[in-house]
Amino acid sequence: MGENSNGDVSRETTTGGPSGFQVKTAADLADFATSLADEATPLARAAEHSVRVRLGAQSQPAMPRPTATRIMVVANQKGGVGKTTSTVNVAAALAQLGQRVLVVDLDPQGNASTALSIDHFQGTPGTYELLVEETPLADVVVPSPEVPGLDVVPATIDLAGAEIELVSIVARESRLQKALRSHPRVGGAQEAGEDRWDYVFIDCPPSLGLLTINALVAGAELMIPIQAEYYALEGLGQLLKTVDMVRAHLNPELAVSTILITMYDARTRLSAGVAEEVKAHFGDQVLKTYIPRSVRVSEAPSYGQTVMTYDPGSPGALSYLEAAREIATNAATGANW
Ligand code: ADP
Ligand code: MG
Repeated sequence: MGENSNGDVSRETTTGGPSGFQVKTAADLADFATSLADEATPLARAAEHSVRVRLGAQSQPAMPRPTATRIMVVANQKGGVGKTTSTVNVAAALAQLGQRVLVVDLDPQGNASTALSIDHFQGTPGTYELLVEETPLADVVVPSPEVPGLDVVPATIDLAGAEIELVSIVARESRLQKALRSHPRVGGAQEAGEDRWDYVFIDCPPSLGLLTINALVAGAELMIPIQAEYYALEGLGQLLKTVDMVRAHLNPELAVSTILITMYDARTRLSAGVAEEVKAHFGDQVLKTYIPRSVRVSEAPSYGQTVMTYDPGSPGALSYLEAAREIATNAATGANW
């Protein structure tokens, strides 16, 4: 924690993107986008993205939807590696790209709920009620006020007790799986229809307790954010062991599908070294897009926003948009419904 408070971050003083192009109005954006529309440059992407956000392009799907809901678990038992930041920004980016997305906040801290501007004061129905009281998912889902197409199940501090309360509950590891699967918007086109969620992202707490186990049982794909820092790979062995255990006994469909390198600092050899090491270890599962360390990314939650709406042209937002595209184009290794 606290990485956002140090001075060692890139300075972004413009809203226009990497070259410093100043975009002040929607018309600027439109002109800029048109002039660059056919080029796959980061700048063109910036313009395209900004225009999309302004025009509410969510209604026109920008990319094909997966044939069934992809349930992605965002886990790493280390705190402060970018789980929550990556969950909310990839989810928002996919929604901006026309996908229907649900974020399940499974961390009692409720940081994902905060970043998505969803109330999560104590007593607000959310993941605690879903897991412990078996309240139906439909009763705890809230639409994001900031991003059309994005829904959220908030987490309150009550969830801290769930880790203990779940211990004595029947089928304690599969509560979340049951809750998700019994919702009409989860599944393939045939049973869940046009209104189905394309993606469910589950933001895990920094531990390997029953909450994270519930997520690993509920999902088919694991996304591991790895901070480009010293000791980045330490502790991952334990996560992968837990994944093997869950796969063997509780959820054979689970696969590590996505590794996302976060808080990358292109100026340091350390970041490059860590990225190389992660690629050597995980190969193709590592997304080509790295998320840079960026002040805009860390500021956004204090405005109840993701960086995707807070500063859509910033390098952090563009990187999350690219990461989202990569995820969407990767063949789903997930469940067959
Ligand atoms: P986790 O959920 O794994 O505990 P967070 O997503 O909360 O991690 O991130 C930890 C801290 O790092 C937060 O203060 C967040 O704002 C900051 N942070 C995450 N990603 C970035 C980034 N790309 N650039 C700058 N700060 C970041
Ligand atoms: Mg978190």
